[in-house]
Amino acid sequence: MAGIYLHIPFCRQACTYCNFHFSTSLKYKDDVLHAMHKELELQRNFLAGLPVETIYFGGGTPSLLSADELNRLFEHIFQLFPVNELKECTLEANPDDLTNAYLKSLRSTPVNRFSIGVQSFKDSDLRYMNRAHNAGQADYAIKAAQDAGFTNITIDLIYGTPGLTDADWKHNLKQVRELQLPHFSSYALTVEENTALHHKIKTKKTAPVDNEQSAAQFEILMEQAEAMGFEHYEISNFAKPFQYAVHNTNYWKGLPYLGIGPSAHSFDGENTRSWNIANNATYAKALLQDGKRAYEEEKLTQEEHLNEYIMTSLRTMWGCDLAKIAGEWGHDQAKDIEKSSAEYQERNWVVVKDDKLILTPAGKLFADRIAGDLFV
Ligand code: SF4
Repeated sequence: MAGIYLHIPFCRQACTYCNFHFSTSLKYKDDVLHAMHKELELQRNFLAGLPVETIYFGGGTPSLLSADELNRLFEHIFQLFPVNELKECTLEANPDDLTNAYLKSLRSTPVNRFSIGVQSFKDSDLRYMNRAHNAGQADYAIKAAQDAGFTNITIDLIYGTPGLTDADWKHNLKQVRELQLPHFSSYALTVEENTALHHKIKTKKTAPVDNEQSAAQFEILMEQAEAMGFEHYEISNFAKPFQYAVHNTNYWKGLPYLGIGPSAHSFDGENTRSWNIANNATYAKALLQDGKRAYEEEKLTQEEHLNEYIMTSLRTMWGCDLAKIAGEWGHDQAKDIEKSSAEYQERNWVVVKDDKLILTPAGKLFADRIAGDLFV
C-alpha cells in the first residue's frame, strides 16, 4: 500500500506562525500545476507498482484549486498509478473557501475527506494568528460541508495562544462535539524562526508563548477528548474509534509515499528520503524547461531508520514494538531500548504492554524527550 501527497503552495494571506512553504502570490500557479503533472509522469515508477490507497492534498491552501484543476490531477494519477481502492482522499481547506457552490463542485471529484484549518472558534485568537477567516465562517463551513454530504471531516485546533484562557480552550473543544466531528488534530502554538510571530515576539510587539499554559492546555485537551469519546491515537491526533486518518497513519507505519509539488517529501519505504526544492519558480522551471526535478535526497543509515521508527511509533497509541525492532534491527537493539526506558517506566511515563513501549498520559507531555533518550 502507498500514498500520494500533493503540495499546493499558495495561500490567500500569511498566518503569523506558519513555516510551511507557500506564497501569497498566485503568479506561478499555472506553471506549478503544469510542473506537478510533469513530476507525476517522471515519478510514475517511484511506488514500484504498489496500489495507492490514499491521496492527500496539503499546503499551503489546496482549497484554492477549482474542482476542474483537482480533477485533472486525479485523472492523471489514475492513469499513471494503480489505484484500485481509494480508501481516503483528503483536501486541506480553509473555512473561507468552503462556499456552497465550491462544495457542490467538489462532489464531482474523488475528495471524500476534509481537513479544515479552523485553529480556533475565538475571533481575537484568529486575528492574533492573522487567519483569513473568522469564527462564524469556520462554524458555517463545517456545517455546509456536512450538508453537502461530506461526513469525514477533521479540523485543526491550536492551543497555547496568549489570550486563550482555559475556559476558551474548553469552549473550542466543545465545538468538536457539538459539530459531531469524527476526528480532530490539535497543536501547541510554536514559535518557529523566520516567522512573523517570531519577529513580533522578538520586537516585543506581541506577548511570548507561555510553555506552562501550553502544557496545562495539553492536559485539558487529553481529558476533554477522552470525555468526548475520542481516542488519542497520535500525540496531536484524536479520532472516534476506528476513524483514524489513513494517510497519516501510513506515514507513521513507515509505508512508502510519493510527494509531488514544491517542498513535498517522498519516502521509498526502505531507506531513501527526498524533498523537492521549496521555491515555486525554481521547481516549475526545472520540470518545465529542463525536464527534471529540483530535489535533494538522503539515504538513512540503519540507526537513523531505527531512531525514526522510535520517534514516530512512540507518538502513537500502538506504541514502539520491541518485537519488530528485534526482528528488523536485532535483539541487542531491542534490549538496549527497553533498558533505556526503565527510568521512564519507574516514573510511570512509559508502560510495556504486549512487548510494546507505550506512553502514559503523563509521558505524552514529554514524548520528544523520551524518544530522544531511547535513540540508539
Ligand atoms: S493557511 Fe496554512 S499554509 Fe497558509 S499561511 Fe496559514 S497556516 Fe500556513
